[in-house]
Amino acid sequence: MLFCNTQDLQTILNILYILNELLTVGGGRRVGVFVSKGGTGILLQLVLSGSKESPPSEELMLQLHSLLAKVGPKDRKFGVKARLNGALNVTVNLLKQNLQNHKLLLPCLQVLRVYSSNSVNAVSLGKNGVLELMFKIIGPYSKKNTSLLKVSLDTLGALLKSKTNARRAVDRAHVPVLLYIYQDWHRNDTRHRHMLIRKGVLGCLKNITNIKLGRKAFIDADGMRILYNTSTVSTVTKLPKTQSCLCPRVWLPVDDVVDESDDNDDVETENDTENEEEDKDHHNDDIETDINKLRPKETHSRPFEELKIYERFFLELSEDFQVMQDRHPFVSLVESSTSKNLINIVTFHFKTSDSPIFIDHDGCCDHSQVRPQPGQPPLLAGGVAARQGGGAEETLAEEWAEEEGGEGAVLEVPDTALLLPLHDPDLYVEMVKSTRSVPQYSEVAYPDYFGHVAPTFREHILERVYGVQRTKIFQDIERLIHPNDILDKVVYDLDIQSCPVIDDGESLKFNSQFESGNLRKAIQARKFEYDLVLNSDINSNHYHQWFYFEVSGMRVGAPYRFNIINCEKSNSQFNYGMQVLMYSVQEAISGRPRWVRTGTDICYYKNHFSRSSIAAGGQKGKSYYTMTFSMTFNHKDDVCYFAYHYPYTYSTLKMHLQKLEALRTPQIYMRQDILCETLGGNSCPLLTITAMPESTSNDQICQFRNRPLVFLSSRVHPGETNASWVMKGTLEFLMGSSPLAHSLREAYIFKIVPMLNPDGVVNGNHRCSLSGEDLNRQWQSPSPELHPTIYHTKSLLQYLAAIQRAPLVFCDYHGHSRKKNVFMYGCSLKETVWQTNISATSCELHEDLGYRTLPKILSQTAPAFSMASCSFVVERSKEATARVVVWREIGVQRSYTMESTLCGCDQGKYKGLQIGTRELEEMGAQFCVALLRLKRLTSPLELRNHAHLLDVESDLIETRCKVSRSDTCTHQGYYSKQELTLKIYTETIIFECETN
Ligand SMILES: [Zn+2]
Repeated sequence: MLFCNTQDLQTILNILYILNELLTVGGGRRVGVFVSKGGTGILLQLVLSGSKESPPSEELMLQLHSLLAKVGPKDRKFGVKARLNGALNVTVNLLKQNLQNHKLLLPCLQVLRVYSSNSVNAVSLGKNGVLELMFKIIGPYSKKNTSLLKVSLDTLGALLKSKTNARRAVDRAHVPVLLYIYQDWHRNDTRHRHMLIRKGVLGCLKNITNIKLGRKAFIDADGMRILYNTSTVSTVTKLPKTQSCLCPRVWLPVDDVVDESDDNDDVETENDTENEEEDKDHHNDDIETDINKLRPKETHSRPFEELKIYERFFLELSEDFQVMQDRHPFVSLVESSTSKNLINIVTFHFKTSDSPIFIDHDGCCDHSQVRPQPGQPPLLAGGVAARQGGGAEETLAEEWAEEEGGEGAVLEVPDTALLLPLHDPDLYVEMVKSTRSVPQYSEVAYPDYFGHVAPTFREHILERVYGVQRTKIFQDIERLIHPNDILDKVVYDLDIQSCPVIDDGESLKFNSQFESGNLRKAIQARKFEYDLVLNSDINSNHYHQWFYFEVSGMRVGAPYRFNIINCEKSNSQFNYGMQVLMYSVQEAISGRPRWVRTGTDICYYKNHFSRSSIAAGGQKGKSYYTMTFSMTFNHKDDVCYFAYHYPYTYSTLKMHLQKLEALRTPQIYMRQDILCETLGGNSCPLLTITAMPESTSNDQICQFRNRPLVFLSSRVHPGETNASWVMKGTLEFLMGSSPLAHSLREAYIFKIVPMLNPDGVVNGNHRCSLSGEDLNRQWQSPSPELHPTIYHTKSLLQYLAAIQRAPLVFCDYHGHSRKKNVFMYGCSLKETVWQTNISATSCELHEDLGYRTLPKILSQTAPAFSMASCSFVVERSKEATARVVVWREIGVQRSYTMESTLCGCDQGKYKGLQIGTRELEEMGAQFCVALLRLKRLTSPLELRNHAHLLDVESDLIETRCKVSRSDTCTHQGYYSKQELTLKIYTETIIFECETN
């Protein structure tokens, strides 16, 4: 008010002095209040009116700009306000006229720095020659005025984010100038007192090299070498990251069609729209706010007549067991597979010349042997590729007979029968024969054949070693600086029809042509360094993450480095202690058949390979990431396999199911059905497991039919192999002979689809099915043709809902690549509403809190499980997932996704350890135990019948207090968040204790 009413300069100055004092102390809160009262606008008006005096009062301008420098950074609209007020030009003119007046220069530059952070301002300031102005201030090393220099560099950096300005800087040859300044400071600032100045220069260079012209100018000015030479001796910690951005961008070394328009990134794409809102909080954007989408969907889209055909998958609901002995509740998966599957005959091939498994079995006495006979097709693995058809088998068999002669090689199979009751190498090969893959794989990888026995030693999460990433990036940059050192030799390439096998003793041999294998190309970069390119998912051009390949021809003790150069995720647990998995055949035949965590110097970083906009979902200028690891091999003539996570193939599942079948006792009701065929012609198994009725009395049959259902599924995402290991644990527990397993079978009918995406698993995909789509985004309207497994699984659930038998629990097992521990996602209307600003009345928020019970029990019983990582919020991006659709459309309140880490745990008994198959299988078993406790908590009658069970369980579960039930249904009006928190807490306790 005072400002508006006075024209007296001295009065205004006095007020400004006071304000400056006031805002200097008291921190940001006072400035915040000043901004909210419209202070910025008034100051900017004063700048404008003051500038009309001639000459403008220097003292007034000094005071105003000092204040604006304080206020600007706190006012999100500062850039726009200044531009609309016309203050930009005033400040710029002031600067131009006072280049030697350092006292006035500093606050003006500080204000200019804030103006420049607005993209529209940056373009307009560039046009007004501010770039050149900054170059008049910044210069070679000098101990004077370093703060002026620093602010100018920051301003310049902000201006250069605009592509127009970056181009202007290239045109005016500013790149060599910046490099010169950088070198000069590097040379003279030997005690590193002014690191921020060097960092400022690098920031400018980095922004210029965002455009292609800029990168060219940078390379032409010998920028790579200058920065490499200076940074290898300096301690600029941030440098390597910057430097990798400065590298020339290139396409991946594979023959994909690239979008030509991507190459032209210098086209002016700047839009003049305001982006001041950009920094607003995006955190909660994905949460569903449409309350109607959070309510059960009433309409039943499909008529019952249509669903009736699914009755045949629920024989147990009508079974009367009158002729119990004759009824065999089992439909064999193998028997029913069609004869056309037999086209895929597995060839056995084994040659001493190229395969290392010619072990003399001295000292390994009771291991069984596979001794291929002449004329009998040998197992092909660890050897050369042999594609199906064209009489390949015949040729190989002949070859085999010739080469082996009378001597014959001995392939020793580790005897794992005792340790791995569900594994049988011969049965595995049987299963492979009926597995259909797109590339028609004819090989079997040794780890899948031998099996995996979890090691007994602990595998710790790796400590992150400081400086590894920097070293790796330097090694990458050295390739550009010393191109003559680079071999660039392609040693494996699936894109070439007859994939070359280089066997000159100088290179490693690679292979991935087996089930779940994924490696597209391997290029030897240096003597012991290989660049690896992964296949994208079939019918898609991205999702590179899963890998599984074989390496042979290694030298013992040599320091090998592997770089997977087309990863896509922006970060990875490989940066937080996760290691890759390796399986050594030599170790296996020495009695240690197992995947072990391996690799040192592991890190994950952005590289200089461009992603085409097609492969980046329409976004331009995206890069790939490198996952690098180093290792040395311990055995000569070994065949080693590397994988992203413990492999679990579709054939392995089929083998496990056959073996589980054999565990069936007269007390167990187990049925295997084929739910449907996949696009690739593989069968999708559906299991039913429960207990046989104790007798054929009406009571028993009635109890049998009326058991609540539990519906489980897994492996919709092929790269999440951990989900299959958890499922294996669940299945083994369910088929077990323990009293707990028996009680569990008596308590529920289990319906299980253990592999929702067999085709993706077989073909080494990471995320999709053969249609190139993420099947866990198709649950809202799955197509019977494109997504048969989802369509029919959903139909089973719709059928159950239609006959009023919707499952008590639905859970889909997944793996998580970014988080540690095992945890659940569930669906809660209340918890979703809390996270948003929707106001809802209590009646709208009526919700049973039962969804929290199962994860809560798990957090008490399963060591890897963490309640803190669970979430019950419904996200928009997840509205077509199994969890949300089963919750909303089928009406299953306890509908979950259970996520298992790929890395390890940071809490509980396994804190600090990487996760292994033992822990994953245990998780699957603990899930069963938790369901049993859930049963106890949800049906009081059961309590009396299973008193013996409580003793067993009390070891696992702490006893809880009794809380009497109060009437909680009388609340009116709105709940506050605190009220709801309290309510949910008490209701959970009541819920859990009411049956005690
Ligand atoms: Zn998943």
